[in-house]
Amino acid sequence: MSCRLLQSGRHSLSLKTLTPLKTRAAEARYCTALYSQIRHRHRNNSFCHRHATSVPALSLSSLSPAGMELSKVVSVLEELAPLSLAESWDNVGLLVEPSPPHTVSTLMLTNDLTPAVMDEAKSKGVGLIVSYHPPLFRPIKRLRCSSWKERLVVQALERGVAVYSPHTALDCLAGGVNDWLCGGLGAGSVDVLSQAQCSGPTGHRLEFRVERKDELNTILSGLTDIPGVSYQHSTARSADGEVASVSVSCPSSALTPAVQLLSKHSTVYSTLTVLQVTKPPLPDHGQGRLCTLDQPITVALAVQRIKSHLGLAHVRLALGAQCTLESTVRTVAVCAGSGSSVLQGVKADLYLTGEMSHHDVLDAVAMGASVVLCEHSNTERGFLTVLQERLSARLGPAVSVRLSERDADPLTVV
Ligand SMILES: [Zn+2]
Repeated sequence: MSCRLLQSGRHSLSLKTLTPLKTRAAEARYCTALYSQIRHRHRNNSFCHRHATSVPALSLSSLSPAGMELSKVVSVLEELAPLSLAESWDNVGLLVEPSPPHTVSTLMLTNDLTPAVMDEAKSKGVGLIVSYHPPLFRPIKRLRCSSWKERLVVQALERGVAVYSPHTALDCLAGGVNDWLCGGLGAGSVDVLSQAQCSGPTGHRLEFRVERKDELNTILSGLTDIPGVSYQHSTARSADGEVASVSVSCPSSALTPAVQLLSKHSTVYSTLTVLQVTKPPLPDHGQGRLCTLDQPITVALAVQRIKSHLGLAHVRLALGAQCTLESTVRTVAVCAGSGSSVLQGVKADLYLTGEMSHHDVLDAVAMGASVVLCEHSNTERGFLTVLQERLSARLGPAVSVRLSERDADPLTVV
């Protein structure tokens, strides 16, 4: 187990049987069954059904949905996958917002927002596209129809279609994309590879003591002038009179000016302690997973299960050094999408991801890990069926939640 794993949360998957997936409807039933069996193990080794939700049947009513204000739909999306879970480099949340009021009666889920998906959205009267990958990622300085990505934004606004992206918030989520990907491997326990942290302020706390009241007033006055600084203090009697204990919270940008201020008061400065404030880890949430199977399987069976779970006829396989198709797989490192950075250096019998560079595959193979590559979005798209169920359950009959029929990985094996 790598040192990164020591700080990770762990939960259990209990999947007893694996059924080949023929249709999306079959996949939906399969995912519901799977997620009703995920259990998260807590420190006291008790189990809870945190993600065990009973999902009502999807509404296929012929009546037109009444619709829901966009801001309310966005609130539901943010509740399902809090944006604070997303990586700092990501661009998540509501990306395109038509002029309010904007009512959403049909929401369409897609892995990628392509021109074909945008045309589909128009033909189906979609008011909100939830695109797992953010179609807007880099800053743009113009909106012209000569660029296909800019044209999508122009069309979205012209047609009154909002666009939302959850991306890495869904990857990190307990019960999110990566846990879904683990679900096809078999019964076992799951560790998070790169632990997510709670949202909240970070920075520093300064603690010091002041004996003279006039000096205390001078220091507190100076601290008030530094942006972002807050403080609290209490006084206690000592043999020499009163002593004030001061605790100052400040962002990183305020640390240097705050310390400079205190350094002008040598007696106070000698009592100064600087503490770094960090966010606590968020159990079960984070990037990547390490599955430890209860019953070891062969590489060949692992490949078969992965194909079945993802509904794929082909995957790419690199056998680890000294490995054959009959070699034992007990641990599988998993990362949806592009897994190189998250999986790098992780000790496992098998890596499962969408894509890795040639040289990263060579590194993994040299470590003795076999690698299964399924193409980027094939490791993500199937989760949209799970998301469809969760959204339908939360939004109710007011909003029709449907899957894009035009969304597909651009690569196929021919
Ligand atoms: Zn991706």
